Amino acid sequence: MTSEEMMLRFMEYSPHVDPALLEKAYQVSKTAHASQARASGEDYFIHCEAVASTLLDFKLDLPSVCAGLLHDVVEDTPFTIGQLKKEFGIEIAQLVEGVTKLDTLQFTSRDEAQAANWRRMLLATAQDIRVIIIKLADRLHNMRTLQFLPPDRQQRIAHETATLYAPLAHRLGMFALKSELEDLAFKHLHPVEFADLERQVNALTAGREKALANFKAVLEKDLEGTGIHHRVLARSKSLWSIYSKMQRQEKPYSEIQDSLGVRIMTDTVANCYALLGVIHSEFKPVAGSFTDYISIPKINLYQSLHTTVVSPSGDLVEIQLRTEDMHRTAEYGIAAHWRYKTGEHATDAHLEEKLNWLRQWLEWLQDLKSPREFLESLKTDLELHQVFIFTPMGEVKALPSGATPLDFAFAVHTDIGMACVGAKVNNKMVSLDYALKSGDICEILTRRGSVPKKDWLRLVKTARARSKIRSYLREKGIVA
Ligand code: MN
Repeated sequence: MTSEEMMLRFMEYSPHVDPALLEKAYQVSKTAHASQARASGEDYFIHCEAVASTLLDFKLDLPSVCAGLLHDVVEDTPFTIGQLKKEFGIEIAQLVEGVTKLDTLQFTSRDEAQAANWRRMLLATAQDIRVIIIKLADRLHNMRTLQFLPPDRQQRIAHETATLYAPLAHRLGMFALKSELEDLAFKHLHPVEFADLERQVNALTAGREKALANFKAVLEKDLEGTGIHHRVLARSKSLWSIYSKMQRQEKPYSEIQDSLGVRIMTDTVANCYALLGVIHSEFKPVAGSFTDYISIPKINLYQSLHTTVVSPSGDLVEIQLRTEDMHRTAEYGIAAHWRYKTGEHATDAHLEEKLNWLRQWLEWLQDLKSPREFLESLKTDLELHQVFIFTPMGEVKALPSGATPLDFAFAVHTDIGMACVGAKVNNKMVSLDYALKSGDICEILTRRGSVPKKDWLRLVKTARARSKIRSYLREKGIVA
């Protein structure tokens, strides 16, 4: 891509920002990396260009795209942070510095010291979420070109991607990126299984595509009758998500059913529900399959209506309904919200709120003392299978599935968690190891002066509750 093409792509979504700095970043990076080659033999600059291009896909702001072009100059060329500051200003220099620091850390689950470093760095750089987004774009291109590296480095990088970067992308709601990272890691970590599944999926695809096309034709006719503006996309599941499902259900691919899917985008929330009504009156929904992530969004901002229906040919088809805005959030996650901050459009009033949970989550991670706890909480908190629990006042809290009243108590307020002596769910007393279910109304009973017990550590699922309990017990010398 030429610098002109890059500037045109930027101006498409930021018509009022002068893109001159982009041209400069392009030339500086190209010159600085001029004598270097990638492991593939290509010019090194191809990599910088690819990272910037991903950031343009995300419609990120000018400093981010410039930093994407420049992200490796400090690490790999004589160019210094000081020079960057002088040439491009403090903001871009800081972004590059953040990415460079993350770069110098390697991570394997066997090495806890590295986990500690990684955590420290993540916390420091998370002050500016853009650093993480640039790093994810960097990792994406490295994963796309992983085959050129020696096998041991392929394994290390693929492992790190599957353990840390894909879950992080998921956490940030960046679904398209997450799926691609997962599939690329899958391919390198389990090459035999990957190739086998890919072959099976391709063999069945022809048949399934025909079934899907037939379903789409019937569906389109029904939806057109409504006069509601909409578009229908066929949707294919990523290989890794099919593979995980096969593992979870212990079934072969041929028995995995809802691998057919369509996605319907419309303009307003009201029209999402209107189209859902049309679909349910035409096709029989599968009992229990309907989930409303519009009225109760997922913790990573995801919103959609999900339902699975039986097609005229007897296939199960999973349908997702959402507005175009929700679609952008679903594909790009937090990156979709970032540019609103720059004031180009009406500011997104909820952005700070949305970023808050991430900061909070990282804060809780900071409370965890050992790297092992950190790794465990990464695993559990990043699992987005979650339940929604209501306070008696109707406020809703999202918790990981399996969460107990104690988790809920700490989610409401630390003081309530600390002084918890019992809990009622839907007006009945329950024990503190009760597994909460979505829709439960949970009331926490407290007594002044009551304190956390050691066995609570066994009862909680969330990093927040665990870290609060543990730090109390530690303070009292009850646990090490
Ligand atoms: Mn790089």
